[in-house]
Parts: sequence; C-alpha cells; structure tokens
Amino acid sequence: MSVSTNIEGKVSRPKKLKPSDFFARGGILSKAHPSYEFRQGQLDMAAEIESALAEKRHLIVEAGTGTGKTLAYLVPAILSGKRVVVSTGTKALQEQLYFKDIPFLQSLFEQPLAVCYMKGRANYLCRQKLYDAEREPVLTGVGELRDFKIIRDWEKETEAGDRSELRELPEHSSLWPKVDARGDLCAGQKCKQFERCFITEMHRKALASDIIIVNHHLFFADLALRDQAFGGGILPDYSAVVFDEAHEIEDVAGQYFGISISNLQMQELGKDTSAISRRKLFASPEIDRAIVMLNERSEQFFHLFPQEGRQGFRDQPEFLARHESEYRDLLLALDTLCARLELVTGAVEDTLPLVRRAKLIEAGLTFWMESNDPTFVYWVERRGRGQYLQATPIDVSQTLSTRLMDRMDSVILTSATLAVAGSFEYAQGRLGMQTARTLQVESQYDYAKQVLLYVPPQLPDPRRPEFTRGAADEIERILHASRGRAFVLFTSYQQMRQIYEMLKGRLDHPTMLQGDAPRTALIESFRSTPGAVLFATSSFWQGIDVQGEQLSCVIIDRLPFAVPSDPVIAARTDAITKAGGNAFYEYQIPQAALSLKQGFGRLIRGSADRGVLALLDNRIVRQRYGRVFFDSLPAYRFTNKIGDVQDFFDV
Ligand code: SF4
Repeated sequence: MSVSTNIEGKVSRPKKLKPSDFFARGGILSKAHPSYEFRQGQLDMAAEIESALAEKRHLIVEAGTGTGKTLAYLVPAILSGKRVVVSTGTKALQEQLYFKDIPFLQSLFEQPLAVCYMKGRANYLCRQKLYDAEREPVLTGVGELRDFKIIRDWEKETEAGDRSELRELPEHSSLWPKVDARGDLCAGQKCKQFERCFITEMHRKALASDIIIVNHHLFFADLALRDQAFGGGILPDYSAVVFDEAHEIEDVAGQYFGISISNLQMQELGKDTSAISRRKLFASPEIDRAIVMLNERSEQFFHLFPQEGRQGFRDQPEFLARHESEYRDLLLALDTLCARLELVTGAVEDTLPLVRRAKLIEAGLTFWMESNDPTFVYWVERRGRGQYLQATPIDVSQTLSTRLMDRMDSVILTSATLAVAGSFEYAQGRLGMQTARTLQVESQYDYAKQVLLYVPPQLPDPRRPEFTRGAADEIERILHASRGRAFVLFTSYQQMRQIYEMLKGRLDHPTMLQGDAPRTALIESFRSTPGAVLFATSSFWQGIDVQGEQLSCVIIDRLPFAVPSDPVIAARTDAITKAGGNAFYEYQIPQAALSLKQGFGRLIRGSADRGVLALLDNRIVRQRYGRVFFDSLPAYRFTNKIGDVQDFFDV
C-alpha cells in the first residue's frame, strides 16, 4: 500500500494504514528517524496485534528486550480506531509512554492523537482540601507551611493537578496526603469544586480519548469497582486492553479482587471523622463517643490475632465461637459511627464519604470473618503497627476470564517474561487465557556473544547453612574479575544482609545496600559511581534499566522459588495438588523460571552491552528440572569455570 505523506513527512491517512507501513524497511519510522533499525520481530508483533484488534481476539506476546515492543503495540492501537486502554507496570512507564513515545508518534500524524493518561486518585490534588487547608488549622510545622505555598502556587496554573509535575515538593511531604484527591474524603458531585476538580477533568479527558494509558493498579482497581455496590468504574468503557509488563497482573489482580482490613484503617477513619467534624463544625459529644468506642473495640479485636509475621488463617468459625462478642462489638461500633454521621444535617458532602468508608470496612470485615469462601485464602499479617486481615483469591483465572476476557473484544498481554521453555501454557492457565493466540518474538540481541552464564559447580546446595560462606567467597572472586560493576541479587533479606556483612570489608569496590537509601537514589548513585556493586533483593529484579558497562555483571544467589510456606503460595500449590496436578512442575518451577529470566534480564539493555550472569545455585545443572530453566533463558554461552569469567572481562 502506498503511504500518503505531506511535505513535512506527516501521515495524513492514518485509518487506512497498516503497521507494516510504519515498521517495514524504508517505512514511515525509518524515514522519520535516521537511527531507526528495522526489526522483523517488531513488525511481526505489530501485525499480530493489529489482527487481534481487528478480529476481536485475545493475544499473548513475549517480546524479548530490544524488540521495540512499545511502538509495536501503540501503533496498531492508534490505527485500530477503537478505544484502547494501555496498562503499564509502573507510573514511570506510563509517563515514558505519554511524554516520550506518544509525542514521537504524534509527530508522524497530521491529525491530533486523542491520548490521555490516568493515575490513581492519590496522585492528584484535591482543590477542596487545599482551600480548606488555607482556612483551617491542618498544617503542622515549617515544612508543611513551605510545601503548602508550593502547592498553592502550582494549583493556580496546573492543568492536570498531577503531583509528578511538582518536582520541588519533597518525595515524602507530609502535607501531600492531607490535600490529595483520594476517594476516602471526596464528596463527588456534591463537592463545590466538582466541575473544576482535577479528577473530573481526568475523566472528561478519558471520555474524549482513543488511547488511555493507565497502570495495572488503577486498571484492576477499576475492574474490581465496576461490580461493587458503592463502586462505579474509574475508566470509561473501552473495547480492548493492552497490558505491558503483563507478568505482573496475576499478583495485582489478586490484590484488587481480594480483601484487606486493618486496625490502621479503623484508626484513620476515627481520626478523619474527628478532624473533619471539628473543621466543618458538626462535632458533637455523640460522634466523639462513637470514635472512642471504635478505637477501643478495634484495639481489642485486632489484638486477638497473631502479633507477628504473615500466616494463613482458617479458623474463623472457631475464632467466632470464642470471640463473637469482640467481633459483634466492633461491627456495632462501626454501625454507631455511621448512624451518628447520618444524623448530621447540612453537611452531607462531608459526612457521606465517611459513612461510605465505614460501610466498606464493615462489608470487608464481615466477608473476612463469615464468608468462608473456599476460593479465597485467608491470612493475617503484622507489618509495623499495622495488623492486616487479608483474603486473596487462590486462582484469579476464573475471575479474569469472566470479568475481563469475556467482556472485552481483545485483551493483549505482552512482556519479556511470559513463556516457560517456549510454552505459554503457564501464563494462559494462571490468567484464564487458554484460548488466546500466542507469539514469541526473539530478542534482537546476540546473547551467545554478549553474555556468559556462569554456574560455579563446587558450591554447596543453597539450602545448607555452609552455602552462605561459600557464596560470599564466590561473589568476591566474581566481583574481582568484573571489577565491581555488578548487581548482587538475593532471594531473601536475611541472606543479603549476612553476605553483605561478610563482604563489606573485603571488597575493593564501592558497595551499596538496599534499604540504605530510597530505590531511585540507589540506582542513580549506582549509575554514577564507577565500579559500584549493589546488594539488593527481589524489588530490584525488575523495572531497572542500567545501560552500558556500569552494569557488567548480575549475580543471583539461588533459583528464585517462591517461599512455599507463604500462605498465598501454599494455598495455590494445595489447590493444584487437590485438583490432581503436580504443583512443583505446574506452578513453582514455571514461576521461578520466569523470575530468573526477569532478574537476568537486568544485564543486557542494549546491543552494545556485554557481561556475565552468575547463578550460585548449581541445582540448575544437578537437578532434572534445571532443564526448564535453561530452556526458558536466552541462548547464553555457558561455563562452570571462573577462569572463563576472568577471560571474558580481560578481553
Ligand atoms: S470532587 Fe472530590 S477530589 Fe474533587 S475537589 Fe471535590 S472533594 Fe476534592
């Protein structure tokens, strides 16, 4: 097909175009961008997405690093003429799409592209709270007064009200949570600022957009709300969704289709009620007594649960038999607070959000205590001062299947880590997408040349106590060969700290430890410190991009099997076993193989990158299941000799 371009090289007939017009050799992208490289995988991926959208099919695409997958889904989404939601793993990725990739694509089209992004409400300013704060004594300390001035000046000129625009506001500003637009205290249409509200504006923009860029948390919060009594969705209707970093959606969906109730929620409800009732002049001795009652009963009730760790909880009937009065007393306290608030006259815009919140907490608590739903795993967790009662769906595949796949024309998943040993069976099964078509796009990188995978043969089994000392010695040898420039990634905090303590006086390289500074500061410091070594755990296994020789080595301590005693993992393995399956092969190995692929994926982020991957767990060569891991990884060159590692870096 011939492409019509005007004198500035812009595309004037977007609807008739096909992805191949963009991605082919000599196509629009190569004309627009002198350094654009043709990639067959990118073209294949875009063509497959185009037909999935046109034919209303679901699709799973594994696209290795360097495929150019962002453009490969954005272009067909734009050309489809449908409203497509694009969901990314992080807010940072959302911003990259909206502020970098979309403007680039816009430069190719004459017609304006109707694109917007939406984040969770806590990212936006609530004008009403800001105006209230000006009149009422909610600010504490010099820091908050300074932050208030920054926000007040910005509020006059910002169009979106998104706090990421506010670079001068400190990351942990204590003022922001007092003026953000989270739903807890929002009166919605009853608010005087509703028409000028940034959330209202965000919804208006979304209604006028063809492409809506969200993150997984917002997406699943919306999906979970759509069927709820107090709900109402956040997103306008759409006919297709593309999930980038789709390997994360099982966990995120589990959080939003589950229940989480905590003592902190109760305390915050009491605190907010007290503060608002005073500010808005509807405080009364009855409301104050209801708050005191809620606090006391909540403390008594939550104190009945284990006060440390994270563990399964299946004893609700027995618990109720012993502690029914504490439970009923807490429900009564919530009811009493609601009743007191509902009696207030003339302040419904302030009382309504509090009542709605109390009712949601009550509904969650009742579900947790009384539903006894066998499709959920119930567990309790103590984190700091918080005591959490959680219920997580054991298997989200059915929920995703009925609430997402069956309702959408097309659901498209993409990530660099979805296939296990060349098969998509695991992702299809876990996500309820058995009927989806699949495509595996090979990476453009020459892994056999760029990467050496090293597995030291002599180390003890990582489950044995002597492993720690042996692993520390081996890490020292590898870092000596690589001249630092490494991530050392661990599967547990305990192992990370032990090995870091053993090594910190022995290494000649600058070392950094997860937790010593915020994540972004650590990554920045790693990038700018020659020869640096970063010790970290699973939160650094993904979403981090360090190109170039500053990151030349990634060491992983052991095969990243999920902790089998974790209540959610245990419930999932039990469910597979009860259904006659083999949980180790069907769940634990695929999950670990994808995690390993994700962690190793940190190393090669460009065609000029080269380096060594070291896995200190030689079960990958000793055990039969190791084959699955090897078959899931790209075709790296392999060695079990430290001399080869030295030679690799000496070249
Ligand atoms: S509608 Fe809600 S979020 Fe918007 S300004 Fe009013 S209270 Fe704030």
